[in-house]
Amino acid sequence: MSNPVPDAAPAAAGALISQIRDAVMSRQRFLITSHARPDGDSIGSQLAMAFALDALGKQVRIINADRAPEHYYDFPGVDRIEIAADVPADAVADAVIVMECGDLDRTGVRGFEGRYIINIDHHAGNRMYGAINWFDESAAACGEMVYDVIAALGVPMSLEIATHIYLAILTDTGSFHHSHITPRTFEICRQTVEAGVNPAAMARRIFDSNSFGKLKLIGALLDRMQLLDDGRLAVLYMDDAMLGACGCTHNDTEGLINLPLTAREIQAVVFFKVAPDGAVRVSMRSKYDVDVRMVANGYGGGGHKNAAGFTVPGPLDQVRTGILDRVVTAIARGLETRRSA
Ligand code: 5GP
Ligand code: MN
Repeated sequence: MSNPVPDAAPAAAGALISQIRDAVMSRQRFLITSHARPDGDSIGSQLAMAFALDALGKQVRIINADRAPEHYYDFPGVDRIEIAADVPADAVADAVIVMECGDLDRTGVRGFEGRYIINIDHHAGNRMYGAINWFDESAAACGEMVYDVIAALGVPMSLEIATHIYLAILTDTGSFHHSHITPRTFEICRQTVEAGVNPAAMARRIFDSNSFGKLKLIGALLDRMQLLDDGRLAVLYMDDAMLGACGCTHNDTEGLINLPLTAREIQAVVFFKVAPDGAVRVSMRSKYDVDVRMVANGYGGGGHKNAAGFTVPGPLDQVRTGILDRVVTAIARGLETRRSA
């Protein structure tokens, strides 16, 4: 990692990165965690960090609430991730590195409270719950921030580290669809490719790994899709019966929410996933200035302008209209902002 990175982390970040470097260098035993239902950025960020700590001769355990989506199983180190609802009693550590979590509850794992926490995140509204809190909303992926930490630690970019940094960036930018992509994003990716990452192979592994069941599920979802707001808003619905009928699990639902956005007119998508107890998991995606994070914030959730989510108790017919009204308002505001820009 000898090349200078353009638009490298701003000066304030430099001080935080140095603090993180010092905190890591002076400690030996680490736990790494990220949010429940991990995505490519959480998996990539955690494992890139784990491989860097390995290289420094540190002890590392990765503890997550949920398993990685299946198409990540053969990525290096994914088999090291321990799944637990509580931090295992024998998981003694000098520091916990928490990635991608606005607050500790997002980990879905109990028992990190009160420990020495290094909080690295790029979601707006981070609660600053760590001993060190590095929060950079301008990062395209948490993996970009992890790149900086690893560079500061002086660890060379191995193929494993490069693979996970690239995985984090490729997935969290929605394969380079989202805002926040900068020259720096590509400079980091350039270095990962130089370290041996094959972008075509990565895209195939990550995006072209659907089961036939998933293709069936896509059909069922699109068949039931509703268009509102003169075709600007797409609404998807799914429950366990639909999943079962297609031979799918929740892990097969990753990325499906993006399908409607490929229609030019559609500005936002709301995906309702109803659990057997009636609880409704709401995922949202949008284009350009349509801010779905504001909608998520109104329900205690969070995320980014173009990708956000939350969970409400339900039942769906009691919350549906209220949620969709807010998204329609967000669409109108977003289109207004674009027109006046
Ligand atoms: P997804 O729709 O893929 O579950 O989430 C999209 C984005 O919103 C992700 O960046 C994720 O971290 C964030 N997000 C989703 N659900 C929640 C939630 O319940 N709370 C918070 N704070 N963020 C969420
Ligand atoms: Mn992320």
